[in-house]
Amino acid sequence: MKSNSEVHTERQLRTDDLIVITGAGGFIAGALTRYFHDLGYTRIRAIDRKPLPEWYQRVPGVEALSLDLSEKANAIRAVEGAAEVYNLAADMGGMGFIEHFRVECLRSVLVNTHLIEAAWRAGVQRYFFSSSECAYNTNLQKDPHVRALKESDAYPAMAERGYGWEKLISEMFCQEYWAERGLETHLARFHNIYGPHGTWFGGREKAPAAICRKAIEALDSGNHSIEIWGDGTQTRSFCFIEDCVLGIDQIMHSKDLIATPINLGSSELISINDLVSMVESIAGVTLKRAYDLNAPKGVAGRNSDNTFIRQVLDWEPQTPLRTGMEKTYAWIGQQFADRKAGKRVVQD
Ligand code: NAD
Repeated sequence: MKSNSEVHTERQLRTDDLIVITGAGGFIAGALTRYFHDLGYTRIRAIDRKPLPEWYQRVPGVEALSLDLSEKANAIRAVEGAAEVYNLAADMGGMGFIEHFRVECLRSVLVNTHLIEAAWRAGVQRYFFSSSECAYNTNLQKDPHVRALKESDAYPAMAERGYGWEKLISEMFCQEYWAERGLETHLARFHNIYGPHGTWFGGREKAPAAICRKAIEALDSGNHSIEIWGDGTQTRSFCFIEDCVLGIDQIMHSKDLIATPINLGSSELISINDLVSMVESIAGVTLKRAYDLNAPKGVAGRNSDNTFIRQVLDWEPQTPLRTGMEKTYAWIGQQFADRKAGKRVVQD
């Protein structure tokens, strides 16, 4: 199997072809924008509905537009002249967000619906959609000792209410635009992406960032305790951001993956309790654990079955969780210190 440094993607893309990336003020699309910029692509249009000063990353030389893509006219404007479109714009967050704001999650369907139609009309060569592990049938995820989810497990459908159903229907748009209209689409089901420049406070953050922040706060305050959502036995896999952007690039440019959903996640399973222990050892602290059994905790267990991605790409996300968590902890620690020193951090 290829290591990250051995990956070589045939893109059939000129360096001055226009790449459009939506949701680029957020975590993953921000990293993707930087990735293509660093590879030497000279025309990148990054779009997010957030005002520019609130973007998590601003990449020099990249056209940055603040547009709400749930408006049809903005979607048309967004894809003008594009060779490739990467749609990563969605109203989303960790379990605390997606369990409480289902209407907002569902309304992201407007973004993909307008954008894919506009992309097809504009003659875009390739279109990418960011789907999610939440598209899988929740009945298969009631046990922490999970069987990893393979691509066919999305049907019969019983997706996560709100967020997961929006992903499933948008996947279907991608498949039917290919089948009926010949627009080349690619879709990845991300599994819990984490890393530097992700959301780390404010209610939308996910478990890895939340646990790092809580450990940093405990060290800072001297109150060495941590609140854990649920009983801590729920299991997940977490995929480092650098693996995620490398995976998006390969999936978008694989002829074997047109209109075919594929897992993009790590298969290194861990319980939330063990993730807390890992962060404790990185932080050099032992925390008294308090369990909030009424907090949103999501499904009991979930892992990514990587058989298909290994078979098609001879590659899978491979950054060890410990390595990724050390980098994430260091980044959040710096953000925390900056904020404490009165500097503005981007998520304020
Ligand atoms: P994020 O919240 O950091 O970024 C999403 C961005 O989309 C935000 O900056 C938001 O302002 C923008 N957006 C929302 N509605 C918009 C609209 N109407 N018009 C323009 N921009 C809009 O989230 P992320 O973690 O970077 O996720 C990116 C994509 O990956 C999303 O589609 C998400 O559902 C998917 N995904 C993420 C994960 C994960 O673990 N982070 C897991 C599965 C799927």
